[in-house]
Amino acid sequence: MSRPTKAVVNLSAIRHNYQLAKQLTKQPALAVIKADAYGHGATAVAQALHDIADGFAVACIEEAMQLRKVGINQPVLLLEGFFTQDELAVIAEQQFTCVVHNQWQLQVLLAESLSKPINVWLKFDSGMHRLGLLENDYLTAYQQLLHSPNVQQVVCMTHLASADELTDPMTHDQLARFKQLIKPLNASVSVANSAAVLGWPETYLGWVRPGIMLYGASPFVKNQPDSAKSLQAAMTLQSALIAIKMVKKGDTVGYGATYQAPEAMRMGVVAIGYGDGYPRHAKSGTPLLVNGVRCPLIGRVSMDMLAVDLRPVANAQLNDPVVLWGGDLPAHEVAEWADTIAYELFTGITRRIKVEYT
Ligand code: PLP
Repeated sequence: MSRPTKAVVNLSAIRHNYQLAKQLTKQPALAVIKADAYGHGATAVAQALHDIADGFAVACIEEAMQLRKVGINQPVLLLEGFFTQDELAVIAEQQFTCVVHNQWQLQVLLAESLSKPINVWLKFDSGMHRLGLLENDYLTAYQQLLHSPNVQQVVCMTHLASADELTDPMTHDQLARFKQLIKPLNASVSVANSAAVLGWPETYLGWVRPGIMLYGASPFVKNQPDSAKSLQAAMTLQSALIAIKMVKKGDTVGYGATYQAPEAMRMGVVAIGYGDGYPRHAKSGTPLLVNGVRCPLIGRVSMDMLAVDLRPVANAQLNDPVVLWGGDLPAHEVAEWADTIAYELFTGITRRIKVEYT
């Protein structure tokens, strides 16, 4: 018997969610599988989507090479482009699609002599002020790329800062700036991330780039759009009860003695902690499923263990299963209890968690 702690990833759910993005937008879709497919395993996810995906997006060349090595031949977009000049030769050789987001990348690409021309996604900073060129630089760069022998095609892209808040006017502003920019260009374009795919049909202008929704988590915290109800959670993070005990009224539980039993009660210890990627900042009260029943976390999360109030569940026994998120317990809900987002929970799963695929 080994430690009962693992993540079970349902690859059919990921296929379902990718197809949902396609059905909603009727646009080509790059499956965003950077950061090891948000902790779900990039090669497994790419292989599961291989026959239906129009392409993939990753952060950098190392992540892209991992996909080529397992036979993924679709377009792979490098969302941060390249970091050193030498990477360009590999990009050309492997025919990766490359974001260009700053002047340095632009000048290096224009000055190189590549073995094969590449596809470039030129990033416009429409208001997020992270990556991308501003308007005047953008239009010059666009023309330079269009006329460069190193470049086959230029796609105009931008990224939305607040699409996960349906009432925030920023998305309208960013979209208006982007539309104004591309009006004279007759270019292929790309705007939508998951939040836009699920909640902003006006962003369906070309290639869409769903990430978090592929894994079945909603990017919205409040006011879920109806489309988010069709998502299927892909990951179930699970463990088991490894100790059960009675505590008396007034007894404290865990490091720092932060939880005090309000009455004599039955509690359990679960074999998972922040060393596995469960968030240490999850507050007392964060729901867990013990035998499918919601029970609250109590006290501080330790490195390898956490404690649970077993009062809501009748007859819980040693070794009974505990779900930390997945199934009826959405990751974004757990994330909220820990002042974070599902993205961070998924990517925070550590190497000691076994991932099994169904
Ligand atoms: N497009 C870009 C440029 C991104 O940086 C990301 C993720 O950070 C995505 C798309 C996917 O975003 P999401 O996971 O919110 O769908």
